[in-house]
Amino acid sequence: MFKAKKRFIAGAVCPRCSEMDKLTIFKEGEKEFRECVGCGFREQMLLQSTPNELDTRVNKTKEEKEAETQPVRLVDPNEKR
Ligand SMILES: [Zn+2]
Repeated sequence: MFKAKKRFIAGAVCPRCSEMDKLTIFKEGEKEFRECVGCGFREQMLLQSTPNELDTRVNKTKEEKEAETQPVRLVDPNEKR
């Protein structure tokens, strides 16, 4: 008899019989299946590596206005001291 390691999925509800804690997950080769021990529901798990990190980095181009504020020296030639 082929025995696969089955793990119960805690809190999982079978989509067919709506029984909770009846779903098991097991591996068969490279594929993962979930199976309901209650009604025999079986479905292949589609494992997709979902990147959690948001890769939406907006390149904010800083439009620095070249406002060159040159210090203006008001030199009064007639300044007396
Ligand atoms: Zn079921």
